Amino acid sequence: MTGTVLVTGGTGYIGGEVIDQLLVKGYAVHTTVRNAAKSEPRLRERWPDAGDRLKVFQADLMSDEGWAEANAGCHAVAHVASPFPLAVPKHKDELLVPAREGTLRALRFAKDAGVQRFVQTSSAAAIAYGHPEKDHFDHTDWTNLDANVAPYIESKTVAERAARDWVAENAPEMIFCSVNPVAVFGPVYNDDLSTSIEFVKKIIDGSIPMIPNMGICVTDIRDVGRAHVLAIEAPEEKVRGERFPTSEKFLWLREMANIVRQRAPELAGKVPKRPMPNWLVSILALFMEEMKQIKPELGNVRDVSGKHTEEVLGFQFISAEQTLEDTARSLVERGIVKL
Ligand code: NAP
Repeated sequence: MTGTVLVTGGTGYIGGEVIDQLLVKGYAVHTTVRNAAKSEPRLRERWPDAGDRLKVFQADLMSDEGWAEANAGCHAVAHVASPFPLAVPKHKDELLVPAREGTLRALRFAKDAGVQRFVQTSSAAAIAYGHPEKDHFDHTDWTNLDANVAPYIESKTVAERAARDWVAENAPEMIFCSVNPVAVFGPVYNDDLSTSIEFVKKIIDGSIPMIPNMGICVTDIRDVGRAHVLAIEAPEEKVRGERFPTSEKFLWLREMANIVRQRAPELAGKVPKRPMPNWLVSILALFMEEMKQIKPELGNVRDVSGKHTEEVLGFQFISAEQTLEDTARSLVERGIVKL
């Protein structure tokens, strides 16, 4: 395979994985970062042999500067950059505006540069929220924005909807699809941890001493990267307009803790065993950001199926057990969690 692909947000966990897989397959890659002076050396350190096959451009989701240069000569875009903070912002526009306007800006410049295919990194957040009556979801479901959902969830839903509407109206010839990951785990490459990984870190390093009654769907960073690359490569009829959720399975946090204990017992000394009562989550939520986000999820099953993605793109997800073991091992190997 040859060609040049723009991956926005090359400093991020998912952006980095997509770049890695594209470089391995022989593509040339352009990537955007917010601060090239700070980020380019880190990217060159990760891919020391990439040379001219990796070009880094400075571009912010909130400004037009740099986007034309970043798109020039690219046949496809993986638009991964979007704010993904651990803390809930003071005002939801801090997430909504860059997510929505940034996506439309990336689309506009891609169209102007003649990009043929655009893969948006959306999220299961755009699929599985605001439906209290449901606990199983798939690529056909949409988060209900009439319900009171968290700002991040709203930002991903609004951004995906806006992208699809914009393409239908302004660039119907462009092949557009989205990849919609659930919580992403797997090997880490530096200590700039994505919000999803922070969660496992806190389980292993003992900063969460008891386990809340909460569940989460697990997907592997390597499968998320693969879904992006296959969405760029697959025949048009397989991907046009598609949504590709990546999700291996739903697990309760206590099951995740058990998996780490069983598969990496030497790392599991601080992994909590006792359940955290719901009343304690409610109290801690008054002053702890993580608990504030956990509280509305207590006891909920939100099981998003990735079967459609496996069938259409033709690959099998890595097991959640393997993913969680690899996450734990890599956090320790990189010295991010000290035992
Ligand atoms: P991450 O490691 O925090 O990466 C976020 C990326 O977005 C960074 O490269 C960041 O650049 C960039 N970014 C944020 N605001 C920006 C702005 N105003 N202008 C330009 N770039 C900006 O998070 P991630 O886990 O890789 O997530 C990447 C995408 O996947 C996001 O769209 C997220 O919603 C989605 N996603 C993630 C998960 C998950 O569990 N990780 C699950 C589903 C969907 P800086 O380095 O400059 O901050």
